[in-house]
Amino acid sequence: MPLVNMKPLLRDAMENGYAVAAFNLVDYGSTKAMVKAAEELNAPVICQTSAKTIKFYSHKEIVSWVRTAAEDSPVPVVLHLDHCKDLEMIEACAKAGWTSIMIDASELPFEENLEMSKRVRDIADKYGVGMEAELGQIMGVEDDMVVAEEESVLTDPEDAQKFCDALDLSAFACAVGTAHGFYHGDPKVDFDRIEAINKLTKTPMALHGGTGLSDEVFRKAIERGAAKINISTNLKHVFVESFVKYHMENPKDFEPLRVIDAQYQACKLLFSSFIAKFGGENRAPAYLSKAA
Ligand SMILES: [Zn+2]
Repeated sequence: MPLVNMKPLLRDAMENGYAVAAFNLVDYGSTKAMVKAAEELNAPVICQTSAKTIKFYSHKEIVSWVRTAAEDSPVPVVLHLDHCKDLEMIEACAKAGWTSIMIDASELPFEENLEMSKRVRDIADKYGVGMEAELGQIMGVEDDMVVAEEESVLTDPEDAQKFCDALDLSAFACAVGTAHGFYHGDPKVDFDRIEAINKLTKTPMALHGGTGLSDEVFRKAIERGAAKINISTNLKHVFVESFVKYHMENPKDFEPLRVIDAQYQACKLLFSSFIAKFGGENRAPAYLSKAA
């Protein structure tokens, strides 16, 4: 089916107590693996792209991969732009076929962040796509931006309400104690804050930094309003390690298709496990009947 807007998808997730998995694609194989994993579980999925990945390839290449993978699939697929600070790139994505865009102006003071995010609201409206924006600073490394633990600012629930009321977001990214990259020590996720923010904003929450969180953390976050959960670091590792592992185990096999198939299967397995863990299984028909 054609790519879908993120908004109704995440509303359904929030209202029904599950989360849609969002994976950062790195090439066509990983894109196809996420759509196939969703299809096998009859679940919706979000294929997302970092600004770095778009610069490495091009808008045209990425849109063609995701559309090709989604076209013959019966499950809803979103193409989302993750953390972007560049309005030109955001508009170029919406124009090229992304069905959701994210503005990350979270390093700016509240009013400036809101101002910048409102400009992206206009872009999202112009192209009829979903939108995510961020308030508070999530620690860790995202693309080439580093936020140290002591610099990270947890999101204030009342500010979150003002922010969300002004923006009508499909997904709200906020800092609740999770981090981009791998965790050093136990993550301190602030569940009360997730609950308070969701109660005031009534907006599906995007939980960033999903790699390395326990099943219990996921469950508690989803119960409190996390409706989109991002997994990136985990995929990077499986993508590289599965390729290397195949070669180490089969040092004389230089058939590229067998090597990339091993990588594809490993990625698909990773995606399936997260989709199932977040409760996405068999959620595609519910979304589709509402959208019809
Ligand atoms: Zn993030």
